[in-house]
Amino acid sequence: MDDAQPARQQSIAATRGSSKETLQGTAGAGGAAAVGSEVAPGQMLQSLQWELNRIQRTIRLTLQSRLQTLMGQSLETIEENRELAQSIQKILDAHSLRIRCPQCGHAAILRVSPRKGMPAGAFVLDHTIDGKRTFHGGSASVPPIQLTAKPERKPRSESTASSKSGRTTTSTAESRTKAG
Ligand SMILES: [Zn+2]
Repeated sequence: MDDAQPARQQSIAATRGSSKETLQGTAGAGGAAAVGSEVAPGQMLQSLQWELNRIQRTIRLTLQSRLQTLMGQSLETIEENRELAQSIQKILDAHSLRIRCPQCGHAAILRVSPRKGMPAGAFVLDHTIDGKRTFHGGSASVPPIQLTAKPERKPRSESTASSKSGRTTTSTAESRTKAG
């Protein structure tokens, strides 16, 4: 009779996350930021993590606003454009960032590939979607640049990894960055 018990009130699960916030800030006012020894290691690491997240966010936004100024630009030859794309990519790689494909939203790598009628090449977004390598874009100049975190690699422990070798994994739902 009672096999369909209503699930326990879910409100239990709603955790009060706010207590952590007390760690932040307020050190500034009265001076005397605890002289080292008083801070528990866990707290220190936690606030360090926050600080790093903030820095990473700043890096991402700085890069993005600078790179956006390249939008619409194109150099004379395909070699030059290729070099440009590679230089951009190199910087992004160093910070574990990717370009968000304006067409589909996946994290992508900017490349320049030869194309008929486009002597200076086409800017394409190279990404893997549903296990297939896919190119989007194809403009004659640098596309709009929105940055996104590089997707994390899945551990390749999944039991029946079929023969098809998708180099990069694409999680269906793009993981949002924690920094936001
Ligand atoms: Zn795309």
